[in-house]
Amino acid sequence: MTTGKSVARSAAAELSERLRGRVLRARDVDFARELEGFNSITEHDPDLIALVSGAADVREAVSFAAARHLPVSVQATGHGPSLPASGGLLISTRRLRGVSIDPVARTARVEGGTQWFEVIQAAAKHGLAPLSGSSPLTGVVGYTIGGGLGLMARRYGYAADLVTAVEIVTADGRSHRATADQDTDLFWAVRGGKGNFGVVTAIEFRLVPVSRLYGGGLFFAGEASAEVVHAWREWTATVPEELTSSLALLRMPDIEAIPPFLRGRLTVHVRIAHLGSADDGERLVAPLRTAGPLVVDTLADMPYSRSGEIHQDPTEPIPYNERSMMLRVLDEAAVDALLQLAGPGADCIDLTVELRQLGGAAGRAPEVPNAVGHRDAAFALSTLSLPDDRPRWWWTAWRRGARDSATSTSWPAPTPRTSPRAATSRPPSPGWPGSRPWPTRTTSSASTTTSRHGRRAAESPPGVERRRSAMPPPGQYPADTPRWKAGRGD
Ligand SMILES: Cc1cc2nc3c(=O)[nH]c(=O)nc-3n(C[C@H](O)[C@H](O)[C@H](O)COP(=O)(O)OP(=O)(O)OC[C@H]3O[C@@H](n4cnc5c(N)ncnc54)[C@H](O)[C@@H]3O)c2cc1C
Repeated sequence: MTTGKSVARSAAAELSERLRGRVLRARDVDFARELEGFNSITEHDPDLIALVSGAADVREAVSFAAARHLPVSVQATGHGPSLPASGGLLISTRRLRGVSIDPVARTARVEGGTQWFEVIQAAAKHGLAPLSGSSPLTGVVGYTIGGGLGLMARRYGYAADLVTAVEIVTADGRSHRATADQDTDLFWAVRGGKGNFGVVTAIEFRLVPVSRLYGGGLFFAGEASAEVVHAWREWTATVPEELTSSLALLRMPDIEAIPPFLRGRLTVHVRIAHLGSADDGERLVAPLRTAGPLVVDTLADMPYSRSGEIHQDPTEPIPYNERSMMLRVLDEAAVDALLQLAGPGADCIDLTVELRQLGGAAGRAPEVPNAVGHRDAAFALSTLSLPDDRPRWWWTAWRRGARDSATSTSWPAPTPRTSPRAATSRPPSPGWPGSRPWPTRTTSSASTTTSRHGRRAAESPPGVERRRSAMPPPGQYPADTPRWKAGRGD
């Protein structure tokens, strides 16, 4: 393998000649800035970065690396790096942006470095929505090829299930257009098998006819964690597929960046996305509202373009470790084991411990089968912690606790399929760190909207705030302004 800074120095000029985009070496001023991503714990250290500007650039970059046996890595937003790049060539797809919507066919074509908020905005103009996830800032491709567990998963399945075509440059430097009819093994594998099959330059998928939903979050005082988590678990068994929800135990540090109601304490955050009417949503959620002392309630009828307010994921980079696993069953004993490790009084280092309800369409095989496995999982569990070694023992302890209490908890086997490489041992959305409402900005006053549901602010019991989240709506992220901070060492 030919790696190392000396090789990179001589090779950079040649690669520059072959690309329309720029090539950066470690000594270049923009090098560190280009490596910055959302998860700032990751320190990529490639020899070269190729700032690709189209599929032709990607082909050239991959062929160049293949000829020199250089490892290739890909970065769009840095929301989900699995491993830091060490040596070789990093392909930065940030400039591969673009969305085109076919409102009649209800499909979207998206370039390889596009972020979800761009698609959400474009689709909303036609009363349509993509199967995006909790944060509008994640990359469409990274999210979708990992499965993509979104806000409407129980109604419409994983994002990968609606993909109709993937344009991808494989390790031999060739472009493929994989669909249900051509390059079918590749098409199966790349929808759920993540970034193991090449560099995706564009992706096409179906949109769903959703323009609004009833959603938001209920924040409960952490002292009532046991009551709320048990109540939520039981409640999930009663709700229709039109309702997708999750719950997170939030342990936010006592720092200014955190909204005061979350700061330095344990809080339980239940997130709701209901595709039925607001009245039905209110009725369905009613039993949850009384599960414990409610601190903040943001549930309201909202356009899908504001769906990022449901989880209120942070918009600025943070360093974190995340782990996730799928649960076939979440019974009472499993919740007790979870509360013992992450509930009130627990010596828990996790900022968030999140459970997402699965089932519904997420539990069914899609029309065109793909590599998303674990369709029998009932819940997804994930943790997010600040850098520390302890998560490993935490997981071991939790799994042991769950097993000891006779809980059927396991990593289900991946979907069997002909392609052995694609039978990934990772869960469908392995990079999924759950919800992090950490450095989001929140308003200090309750909502002033006068809609029927907005008026609930005045009706809320004392101490319960009805508020609009102040996370910047997706429209406030200019497509050409990366949201990562200035480069390391700047
Ligand atoms: C705040 C936050 C919220 C999230 N919410 C959800 C959620 O609701 N549901 C869910 O399923 N996941 C969620 N995720 C996980 C996220 O979808 C994955 O981490 C995803 O990989 C991010 O892709 P990216 O391109 O933004 O990140 P990057 O770190 O840039 O890319 C991550 C990986 O994706 C692959 N990749 C990216 N682009 C390409 C490409 N063009 N070709 C080939 N491979 C590529 C590469 O393997 C790369 O290492 C969330 C993550 C964060 C940080």
